Amino acid sequence: AAAALGLHAVSAIAAVRDVVVEHEQELGNLDAIAGDGDHGIGMRRGVDAAVAAARSTASNDVGASVHSILAAAGEAWSEKAGGTSGALWGTAVIAAGAALGNKDSYTSRDAAAAVEAFSSAITELGKAELGDKTMVDALLPFRDAFTAAISGGAPVGRALAVAAAAARSAAEQTAKLRPLKGRARPLAEKSVGHPDPGAVSFGLIVERLGRHIDA
Ligand code: ADP
Ligand code: MG
Ligand code: MG
Repeated sequence: AAAALGLHAVSAIAAVRDVVVEHEQELGNLDAIAGDGDHGIGMRRGVDAAVAAARSTASNDVGASVHSILAAAGEAWSEKAGGTSGALWGTAVIAAGAALGNKDSYTSRDAAAAVEAFSSAITELGKAELGDKTMVDALLPFRDAFTAAISGGAPVGRALAVAAAAARSAAEQTAKLRPLKGRARPLAEKSVGHPDPGAVSFGLIVERLGRHIDA
């Protein structure tokens, strides 16, 4: 059972890679408005490395746990992506994997704990707050909606779909904000009217994960 779960983790990361590749150009263009334009390529490099590391961990050890697969994926993501978002995503993937640990099966409560660990890793490392116009503006509404749905008895796929919708709409709403953290800050005025790239990529990724897990 543990090996099958490891393969689920690998295929989830591959689904994340697909959506990043599909939106790479768009994310780069968004980051170019007030940032340095590398959000698409950075996310692509990070998630490519994460998929490769996850696959090699799973093939070197047929019994590889979700924990070890996500640890390898997150480490590779941080290392290869470069940039702020790469460090944040890599650290958060590692934290989610550590929260999941190595079990034979997972409950929806375990999924909620993983989301909480992912979210805390990002806010602890990046220190951004709601309204700073970062991915945190999509992440916290996602975490809250996910936790509420799970507490209300929703299965993981349903909770993810509901929470992803919250993240997507929160990401769009960052358009009206002025960036207070990260590289976009010096060109804050230019950013107004456009959503934060990291919030948009986060929304797209969790939306795809929701569809992947429901499928
Ligand atoms: P870089 O800014 O190093 O070029 P990216 O372009 O890949 O990295 O990522 C930019 C995104 O990172 C921003 O759109 C924002 O969502 C996110 N970000 C920047 N700083 C922080 C922070 N302190 N906390 C959370 N997210 C942040
Ligand atoms: Mg950038
Ligand atoms: Mg950069």
